[in-house]
Amino acid sequence: MLKAFFIHQYARLRARLHTPMSECIFCKIVNNEMPATVVYRDEQVTAFRDIHPAAPTHILIVPNRHIDSVNALTAEDESLAGRLLTVAGQLAVREGIAETGYRIVTNTGPHGGQTVFHLHVHLIGGQPMRHPMG
Ligand code: AMP
Repeated sequence: MLKAFFIHQYARLRARLHTPMSECIFCKIVNNEMPATVVYRDEQVTAFRDIHPAAPTHILIVPNRHIDSVNALTAEDESLAGRLLTVAGQLAVREGIAETGYRIVTNTGPHGGQTVFHLHVHLIGGQPMRHPMG
């Protein structure tokens, strides 16, 4: 419990220290400073195709504001966190994979396999997903 509290506080501090995220590749994509195949954009989130797709559809949905990971989310971010999911669902319809199904993944931290420390939701589909996870 105490450990989780400190991890959360550390993540929040890191997020604050890191702004502006001049070296964050997803911030650069959001700010049009780095090329990407952007498929959706609004005032809160941006979605673009993963550069190394794991399936026929592989889209990353990211908040426009830099947030390191789920660890750095606060209660004030709840509507933004929900937006990431609703946009993922809308893009699944647009990609034609809503009926066949898809997987939504958010890797967090080293054990979660997170490699880019800007919160993102993977929308992966277009083929059957493999099991088990983990
Ligand atoms: P994760 O490992 O969960 O942090 O996911 C990071 C994802 O970002 C990986 O699937 C990468 O292939 C993807 N990625 C890294 N750089 C880029 C980029 N410049 N454009 C699009 N996707 C990227």
